[in-house]
Amino acid sequence: MLSEFDLIARYFTRPLRAGSSAALGVGDDCALLTPPAGMQLAISSDMLVEGRHFFAGADPYQLGHKCLAVNLSDLAAMGARPLAFTLALSLPDADENWLAPFSQGLLTLADAYQCELIGGDTTKGPRNICITIFGAVTAEQALRRDAAKAGDDIWVSGSVGEARLALAGMREEIKLDETTLQAASPRLHSPTPRVALGLALKGIARAAIDISDGLAGDLGHILESSAVGATVDVDALPFGPMLAKQPEDLRRRFALTGGDDYELCFSAAPAERDAVLAAATASGTPLTRIGTIESVPGLRFIDAAGASIDFPYASFDHFAPS
Ligand code: ADP
Ligand code: MG
Repeated sequence: MLSEFDLIARYFTRPLRAGSSAALGVGDDCALLTPPAGMQLAISSDMLVEGRHFFAGADPYQLGHKCLAVNLSDLAAMGARPLAFTLALSLPDADENWLAPFSQGLLTLADAYQCELIGGDTTKGPRNICITIFGAVTAEQALRRDAAKAGDDIWVSGSVGEARLALAGMREEIKLDETTLQAASPRLHSPTPRVALGLALKGIARAAIDISDGLAGDLGHILESSAVGATVDVDALPFGPMLAKQPEDLRRRFALTGGDDYELCFSAAPAERDAVLAAATASGTPLTRIGTIESVPGLRFIDAAGASIDFPYASFDHFAPS
C-alpha cells in the first residue's frame, strides 16, 4: 500500500511549468504564487462529495476532469484567467487503480488550461474532493453578479438541460434509449468550462454567472444581486440535440432547472450585441439571446408569441426540505 507521501509524490507532484505564476509548488508548508502585476486574484472552492455530487463507483478519469472543470467554470464566470489550484482529497484507501486515472483526468484538464496543481491535503476518510482555484483578472474588470442593468440583453452559452437529461436517464426517472443517453452523458460527466468566453467577454458583458444549479435559479442570483428582474423567452432557450427531441414540458423543465450545465449566463447592453457575437466567434462558443433584464423585480417567462407562461421553478438547494 502507498504511503500518504508516496501517493502525493507519484500522482500529484510535477515540476512547475516554465512561465508559471507559482514560485513554489507542492512540497513545502505553503505554495507561493505571484499574481500578475496589476491583476486581482479570483479565488473559488468547489467540493464534490461521493453519494451527493457523484455516484460511488463513478469513473475516476471523468471525476478528475469534472472536479477541476467546475472550478474553472467559476473563474470563467468572473472573466478570470486560470493560474493554479490546490487539491484537498479525502479517500477511503490509496487505491492506485483509482488514483492513476483520477490524477490523469485532473492533470490533463489542468494542462489544457495551464492551471497548475500547487498543493493540497490528503487524508483518509469518505471520498471527497475539494479544489480551491486561483485566477487573475484585470482590476475592476471582473464579471460580477451585481452588475446587471434594466434594458440589458440576457445571453446563455452553448446549450442547457442535457446534463439533467443524462441524470434522469441514469436514474431511470425517464426512459431514454441507449444512443440518447450515451450522447447526453458527456454533458454530465465531462463539462467544458467556458474560460475562453469569459475572458473574451471582459469589458463587454456586465453581469455573469456560471450555471451549476439550473438556469432559472442561477439567473435569479444575478437578478437578486443586481436588484433587477427579467423576462425570459422559453422558446429561445438553446436545447442540445438530445434534449430537443424530448417533449416540450420536459425540455423546458430541464433547461430551466437542471443542474450541472456549466454554461455562462450573462447580461450585456443591447449596444454590445456585435461585440458579444464577436466574443462568441473569437472563443468558438455558441451564444443565444434569451431575454431582457427589467427594472421590475422577479423572473417572468414568455413563449415565442409573447404569451406569459406560468413556470414553477426552483434552483437546487442542498438544504431544502425534501
Ligand atoms: P502539512 O503537513 O504542512 O499539512 P502535508 O504533509 O499535508 O503538509 O503535505 C505535504 C505537501 O504536499 C504540501 O506541500 C501539500 O501542499 C502537498 N499536498 C498534500 N496533498 C496534496 C494533494 N492531494 N495534491 C497536491 N499536493 C498535495
Ligand atoms: Mg506543514
